[in-house]
Amino acid sequence: MISEPHRTEASSPPPTRTDADPLDRGFLDAVADGEARLTAEQALALWHRLPLTDLGRLADRRCRGLHGDRIRTYVIDRNINYTNVCTAKCTFCAFRRDLDDSDAYTLEYDALLEKVRELVAIGGTQILMQGGMNPELPLDWYLELLGRIKTAFPEVHVHAFSPPEFIEFVNFFDPPGATLKDKIRSVMEPLVDAGLDSVPGGGGEIFADAVRRKIGLGKCTAEAWLTVMRVAHELGLNTSATMMFGHIEGVGDRIHHLDMVRRWQDDAIRDLGPEGGGRYHAFISWPFQPDHTPLGNLKAWGDVEGDDPAQPFPGDVVAKLDGTGTKADHPEFGRRLRLAGANTYLRTQALSRLYLDNIWSIGSSWVTMGPHIGQVGLRYGANDMGSVMMEENVVSSAGTTHCLNEPMICRLVRDAGFVPAQRDNDYRVLRPHFGPSAPDLDVEDWSRFRAKALHRENDPTTDAGCGSHYGTTSGDASAIVDLTVEGN
Ligand code: SF4
Repeated sequence: MISEPHRTEASSPPPTRTDADPLDRGFLDAVADGEARLTAEQALALWHRLPLTDLGRLADRRCRGLHGDRIRTYVIDRNINYTNVCTAKCTFCAFRRDLDDSDAYTLEYDALLEKVRELVAIGGTQILMQGGMNPELPLDWYLELLGRIKTAFPEVHVHAFSPPEFIEFVNFFDPPGATLKDKIRSVMEPLVDAGLDSVPGGGGEIFADAVRRKIGLGKCTAEAWLTVMRVAHELGLNTSATMMFGHIEGVGDRIHHLDMVRRWQDDAIRDLGPEGGGRYHAFISWPFQPDHTPLGNLKAWGDVEGDDPAQPFPGDVVAKLDGTGTKADHPEFGRRLRLAGANTYLRTQALSRLYLDNIWSIGSSWVTMGPHIGQVGLRYGANDMGSVMMEENVVSSAGTTHCLNEPMICRLVRDAGFVPAQRDNDYRVLRPHFGPSAPDLDVEDWSRFRAKALHRENDPTTDAGCGSHYGTTSGDASAIVDLTVEGN
């Protein structure tokens, strides 16, 4: 059974009720039913004043209104980071390397194609391919790469090259065009012709300029990021949007970020028409992972002599809902951290489901939050568990160590009260797992199934990190960490 591609958005968004009390039960019911739209001010009030479980219940209701009560999805794909050489120096990044670093790499075509072959062998349908921004690679390298992938694996969906990469393509290749938008289009069109199918939302981080300048050194502006996605939508490509929070930003910055995504999606729907163009298909947010990163070395607010923890967090002082906050508004802005735990994660995800009324899918970030918070996320507005994880090199470099295979991800979805189903990049259901041959229902001995440390070999040029779960590389039982799916 393959479901139809969805095109769910209404041609006009639900109305805002700017004078509504954000805690009014009738108003919240209307938001949860998709009949009223939250303003940024109302969203901020909900963040601060609504209990977490209430927020979760509303987000769950909105999610069920869009996706029904029965099925929750996952995709089988593979993260391939084709190079770790990067001109940017994001302070939250433990992955990047300089060109002359001893562990800098760029994957050879054959190694990359082997990774795709391994993915196809386990029933995978797409690759998520992103890199650092490597000035050594010409446009022809990317065109040949896409050509080789599509020649060998025409059925594999290529979800590749995040907006910061496109902006660096423009800088590196100097394509023709009078405006940035024209230049992006000049680069994107040949990549699409060569096999690019959709654009991932990496590099979104936090859009507010004051935050972005502090953490995304050398990375594109929010305007440039959003412009890349607009070009993709005009070319008919679907994209995702992301947000990395829980560092120096204020809560208002997170809501401003959601607001920018919603606005640009509104514009795409209005300008490209109900049937035309591409869209932001999905939104995924996750907390900053601090290990091995310069940003992670910052102290928490209150941990430095002279801080007064009774006073607001500097990021909250600076944050403005319209994104105009400046570092001048607090002397310690950008110098103190506020990491996000499970409560903040679930609150953020639930609010994103309610705020982003024009986006189809909300993904649960089990990769950063762990399998069980990821599972709980299915009751806090998320309809999708993202990907089984054959390979991941970026957040794992920053200390995150979760990895699931298909039976485990199905088990987590089923234990949350839903039927697991494999989807494709367009969120079409490929294989709903109702019956006894389901990947999880087929398992008799769960003691053999453990979440496993990602990135064990720390060498993406030779091994898939989690590949031994799939019988694709040699396994090492001693490397398995005890994150057993609980229950059996
Ligand atoms: S996050 Fe991406 S753009 Fe930033 S330094 Fe790391 S690899 Fe480069």
